[in-house]
Amino acid sequence: MTATVDLTNPIFTDLDAARAHFESIRWPDGPYCPFCGQMETVKALGGTSMGPGWYHCKDCRRKFTAAVGTIYERSHIPMTKWLLATHLMCASKKGMNAHQLHRMMGLPYKTAWFMAHRIREGMRELNPTGQLGGNGKTVEFDETFVGGKEKNKHASKRNKKNIGGAGKEAVFSLVERGGKVRSHHVPNVTGKTLRPIMDEQIAEASRTVSDDSGARARHGEPNHHSVNHSIGEYVRGEIHTNTIESYFATMKRWIVGTYHHVSAQHLKRHLTEFDFRYNTRIALGVDDIQRASIALKGAKGKRLTYETTGRGRAA
Ligand SMILES: [Zn+2]
Repeated sequence: MTATVDLTNPIFTDLDAARAHFESIRWPDGPYCPFCGQMETVKALGGTSMGPGWYHCKDCRRKFTAAVGTIYERSHIPMTKWLLATHLMCASKKGMNAHQLHRMMGLPYKTAWFMAHRIREGMRELNPTGQLGGNGKTVEFDETFVGGKEKNKHASKRNKKNIGGAGKEAVFSLVERGGKVRSHHVPNVTGKTLRPIMDEQIAEASRTVSDDSGARARHGEPNHHSVNHSIGEYVRGEIHTNTIESYFATMKRWIVGTYHHVSAQHLKRHLTEFDFRYNTRIALGVDDIQRASIALKGAKGKRLTYETTGRGRAA
């Protein structure tokens, strides 16, 4: 357990402190109405009928809390526990699976599983949008395969079509050197699948680097360079794929250490979490507390229910 969360912080035990903390993250400039967007017409309801944390908008005449429109709305899980789970997941270098949350927080396993997935949903929107790279910048890309060993699977579950990955799931990632990463769970690693992703997500002026297998998908681009791993070439000055390779190495250690394996069904969510962790890493000036605040901010507009998430496994 490598998390550096201050467990004595009252936001993890005191509901008023937890609510105030969440409000300060959701509404850094003060409360606004989630229905009509007004700030001036919003007043805290002092009355005891609704309980604390309720506001009223004079303009649209509706009542709301900071949780309205977020993954926490209508949750029976207290905000103190949401905050603790989010902080634990964000501070732990290796992430945290539902079993760990269940044991550490004394929650039923199903609840912990549900929370972990909701918190990951919050991370999704915060991953970068737009294009990676740009003039004078380098984007490395590569593919890797994750998942169980084919020989260990029941015959009916083996995927005979997945040559190259031998039944594993294909992941294609792009990383801007010194910047952010974006990972994709892809059905295969053909040029036809990968090229549209690259065209959409890499700024045209970028220098791109891949190994020789990736080079095939990008053949003909004037700014593209490749290292020929098949003849033992790994670095040619600035032409290397060390950034993406070390990202994949860490990702695989994390999957094995934290989840043992991840199913194809949930792989996308785990990639979201892993990309988020990298994109809010300390080297980019983000600390554990800020990372949790960012994840909490992303919780808006992500209301989920047991019905839509299903009752699944940990990973
Ligand atoms: Zn309103």
